[in-house]
Formats: sequence, C-alpha cells, structure tokens
Amino acid sequence: MGNRTLAILKPDCVEKNLIGQVITKITEAGFKIVAMKMTRLTEASAGGFYEVHKERPFYTDLVKYMTSGPCVPIALEKENAVEDFRKLIGATNPKEAEEGTIRRMYADSIEANVVHGSDSDENAAKEISHFFSRKELLENYG
Ligand code: AMP
Repeated sequence: MGNRTLAILKPDCVEKNLIGQVITKITEAGFKIVAMKMTRLTEASAGGFYEVHKERPFYTDLVKYMTSGPCVPIALEKENAVEDFRKLIGATNPKEAEEGTIRRMYADSIEANVVHGSDSDENAAKEISHFFSRKELLENYG
C-alpha cells in the first residue's frame, strides 16, 4: 500500500478561484501536502504527462485544455493515498461522481473536472517526479 499520490488542481479549478476550497477539502480528508507549485504546462509537458492517452480521441483537446491556463500540481501523503484520493475526488465524469466528492461539487464536465488524481502507486511515483525533483520533495518533507 503506497502513501503518496499526485493531485493537479486543473486550469478550471484555478480559473474559477477554487484553489482554497479544494485544498481545504483535501487537507480536511487527512492528506498532508508534501510539495506544491503553480505552473503553466507547456504542450510538451502536458503531452508527456498524458502520454498513456495518446491514441484516445480526447487527447488533443485534453492537452489543449491542460495548457490553457495555470494549474497546481500537489504531491500528497496519506496512508492508502491513491485509493483514498480517488474516492475523495469522485468519478472522472462529474455527473457520475458521488454526492460530496470534489468533482460532484465543483466540476462542469468530464474534461474540465477540477482535479487529477493518480490511478496507481506506480503512476503516482512517476507523476510526482514529472513535477517535483527529489530535492524539492526532500526539502518540503516533514
Ligand atoms: P485520467 O488519466 O483517467 O485522469 O484521464 C485523464 C483526463 O482526461 C481526465 O481527468 C479527463 O479530464 C480527461 N478525459 C478522460 N476521459 C475523457 C473523455 N471521454 N472525454 C474527454 N475527456 C476525458
């Protein structure tokens, strides 16, 4: 069982001024922030991050959307982080997300769905290192 996951507060979250509310939900659920930054992804960075979806019909729009404005990647720590975080954010499609989940509360569409969460411990490790160096993680840790 892994203890870290990567969240990204997506451009719609930043645009709608929801950074504070969403981080409050995350920390109230017991997640500790290990590293965080505000950044605007380049096409190369967003394309690389979503490489697994390269053949999907929504890939081009997804990269366009993720580069449309600043986002906030956050490395989080908690026991059972990946699974618990996915429960907290709810289904990819906000219409299918359970009541009380972040996407159900704040998301407008399957693409502009407020927040990303890693889907496995292996991907969490890869995704955290996509945004944060070992030094940044060590310096912010504890
Ligand atoms: P995931 O790796 O599961 O987080 O999927 C990546 C992101 O792609 C999701 O969070 C959505 O923003 C977007 N996405 C996934 N499925 C679709 C879809 N069918 N149509 C449009 N966007 C999608």
